[in-house]
Amino acid sequence: MVLLLLLMSALACFAQDAILQKPEVRKALDYLKAHHEEHLDNQIRIAEIPAPTFQEAQRARYMEKEFRRVGLKDVEIDKQGNVLGWRPGKSAKALVIAAHLDISFAPGVNTKVRKEGKRWFAPGIGDDSRGLAALLAIVEALNHASIETSKTLLFVANVGEEGLGDLNGVRYLFGQSPHKSKLDSFISIDGVSPARIVNGGTGVKRYLVNLHGPGGHSYGNFGRPSAVHAAALIVAKLAVLPVPAKPKTTYNVGKISGGTTINAIAEEASLEVDLRSEDPGELDKLELKFLESVRMGVAEENAMRKASGTVIKEEHKIVSHRPGGQTPADNALVRAAQWASQATGHKPSLGYSSTDSNLPISLGIPAVTLGGGGKGNNAHSLDEWFEPDEAWKGPQMVLLTILAYGSRIP
Ligand SMILES: [Zn+2]
Repeated sequence: MVLLLLLMSALACFAQDAILQKPEVRKALDYLKAHHEEHLDNQIRIAEIPAPTFQEAQRARYMEKEFRRVGLKDVEIDKQGNVLGWRPGKSAKALVIAAHLDISFAPGVNTKVRKEGKRWFAPGIGDDSRGLAALLAIVEALNHASIETSKTLLFVANVGEEGLGDLNGVRYLFGQSPHKSKLDSFISIDGVSPARIVNGGTGVKRYLVNLHGPGGHSYGNFGRPSAVHAAALIVAKLAVLPVPAKPKTTYNVGKISGGTTINAIAEEASLEVDLRSEDPGELDKLELKFLESVRMGVAEENAMRKASGTVIKEEHKIVSHRPGGQTPADNALVRAAQWASQATGHKPSLGYSSTDSNLPISLGIPAVTLGGGGKGNNAHSLDEWFEPDEAWKGPQMVLLTILAYGSRIP
């Protein structure tokens, strides 16, 4: 049995390495290298079209035109605002290849791209303009080399990946879209390094907590409960919660606000809290402990100021939930990505992140997030940069993943 398995995996290796020998595959890979500069120019054009989460329409219209230009079929912008384009394969079952339209910046951010030395700077230049440009490059390369894939490919430029978008683009695609029953696997191109394969989705829950009290003069009404003091008691409990290092589990009070002036008892306060874990069970446990901290913090403040006959009231709501999970390391899609990463000269590693892949993973649909090539850093900051160092290897790696995933031992 063990021997048989070894033999089968060796055969799978040969079958995949044989992909590299095919002249049409060489032709597609060479095309991506030869046209790298054009693809970079397109990435810059895309980055300059503003697309804050919930306001992706202008960039979506550009991608719609581009999907038509590269010859995708039945191009449409769906009800959620995602741009869809099809490339039929031998089977009707579709592998989705997606990149997100939105950037993690407020409306009005300056998206003008500037170059300094070897680096290009702009909010969203890598995250995810690189991914969007890579989608188009891959279609061009497949067409140039007349490659027919085994699965149908559905290319998607989706909305709502960042922040409070809460994955609404892919959530619609897999939950409500009329195409959902055809979609059997998913690749998101996000991030840059072709060595980093994200097969795990970090689960995320985000809460907004509002506290409301009687207010009053800091001296004259001393003894009434304060919304800010209650908020501080909540944070103090959360700040000392032990969490496991593995599976990685984290909490953060990212924003705290409240009060109006130094000599008034705060009437209002609010907290924005981000909870994450690689393991869905640990995330649920953390959520319970967090909600307990909220209850206890408010109860302590109220108990201390009981004599005043006034209380702090608390309301909390979940503002974002990204379900987590993992595509197993031995899944054919993960193995295809590992092989493709090696085949393009990288040492692949598997890891966790919070990306569009979270959603299909939580539904049991194989999904990975792969890098679009090049180097970059400072995503989500105004100093985000991208360096197109051998950047063609990103689309090459994704293209090889697509081909290896579909290939079967004869
Ligand atoms: Zn991204």
